[in-house]
Formats: sequence, structure tokens, C-alpha cells
Amino acid sequence: MKLKVLGTQSPVCKEGHNCPGFFIQDGNNRILLDCGSGTHSLLTYPNDLQNLSVIISHLHRDHYNDVFNLQYGSLVFHNQKRIERPIDIYMPKTPIERVDDIKGEPDAYAKYHSIDEDTKLTIGNMNVTFCKTDHPVETYAIKIQNGNRSIVYTSDTSYSAKNRIANFAKDADLLICESSLLKEHGFPEINSHLTAAQAAQIAKQANVKGLALTHFWPEEDVRKYTDEAKEVFKNVIALKEGQIIDIEIAKKEERSKE
Ligand SMILES: [Zn+2]
Ligand SMILES: [Zn+2]
Repeated sequence: MKLKVLGTQSPVCKEGHNCPGFFIQDGNNRILLDCGSGTHSLLTYPNDLQNLSVIISHLHRDHYNDVFNLQYGSLVFHNQKRIERPIDIYMPKTPIERVDDIKGEPDAYAKYHSIDEDTKLTIGNMNVTFCKTDHPVETYAIKIQNGNRSIVYTSDTSYSAKNRIANFAKDADLLICESSLLKEHGFPEINSHLTAAQAAQIAKQANVKGLALTHFWPEEDVRKYTDEAKEVFKNVIALKEGQIIDIEIAKKEERSKE
């Protein structure tokens, strides 16, 4: 299972950086977690549109703006007979006008599906589950399990959802956690986003193996986030655009040794 980082900044992107997006591939199955502004520029065409499931964690612009490019691209490549299956687009049921806006796009070769806390998806060997976070619109953390490995993406959340997310992420191999804020920004402890220290508290409580920070302010030095998080949780990195993280599936290794 391979993770490619497509975007790590919010609410806007700047040269070399995009709004949130994480592309996960396992064999011929592909999952795109969020498709913020600029993320589609780091995909490979038409291959990455084959067997693609786009999962939008919540309908804030920084997390879904590029869905329209993916929809349009899917139609163009389909018309050229270069992709066989429509792309699958999963998203929350609300805000309804944003759902309708996406579903109403006429130039698309796509199928639409709703997600909620009970949704369970099986995409090739990957099982996908959801956990509601605390954020101004309906938002889900997303877990991808493959064999004995798991990746959890928090999406956006207030620290008030800490226990729920920590349980959901229990023992994960990698926790991709938003850390929009720093303690020095001076926001109150309960906000609609996390500080790097709060992200690290969740990682510690969840006993994850590694913490990967994302959702940075465009004008901040990312080292400030890792420095703040490291005071609480040691194994932490700041994600960056284009970075590839290989999550080896132990079962397959064992099989290949046999
Ligand atoms: Zn948001
Ligand atoms: Zn966001």
C-alpha cells in the first residue's frame, strides 16, 4: 500500500504546495482522500483515474475544490476510451447544496455515494471505515485497513473529538493528523482545529506507530509544528507534497517468503 502526499496546506496553497489530498494505491485500486485545490496536478493521467475512489472527508472548499477537475478529466478520458470505469465519489450528505453542486456537474463520468459513520467500504484489499469528528460541517476521519496495516486520516477536527478519534485510530501504523495551529497562535484549547501539541496528544493516546502532521498555515515554518509535537510524541514527521510513504503489508511479505 503506497501513500502519495498531494497537499498539506490550508486555507490556500502557494507554489509547490496544495490544499489537502492523499493518494493511496494498492495494486490496481486507488483511493484519493480529499481533493483540495491543486492536488489533481500531482496525479498521473489517465492511470490514476482507473479504479479510483475519491473520498471527500467534508465539504469545505480546501478539501474538495479539485473534484470538478477530476470529474471533467474522467469524462474526457472516458470519451477517449482511456478509462473503463466511472470514478466513484464518496462524500457526506450535507451541506446539501454543495452535494447537489457536485452531483449536478454535467461533464463527468462518475458515480456518487454518501458516507456516514456506519459506512464500510471494501476497495480491493482495503477496508475503509469512518468516524465523525467535531467541525462546523459534517466531517469524517477515515481509516484504511489492509491486512494487518492501517492508516488513519483525521481530516479537520476540534480537540473535543479527541477520545473518539484516539479510539478509532487505536494502534494504527500511521496517523495523518491535521495540525492547523500552534500553541503560539494563542487560540483556546477547544477550536474547530488542532494544535500540533493536540495532534501529538491524540497520537499518544491512540498508541499509533507514527504521526504525520498536515494542514499547515501557508506562512508558517513546518519545523515549528514538528518541534511542538515532539514534546509530546516522538515519532513525528511533517508531510510534504510529492512525498511517498510505503506501508508494507506483512501478510504479503510472509506469502512471498513461502
Ligand atoms: Zn474544514
Ligand atoms: Zn481544512
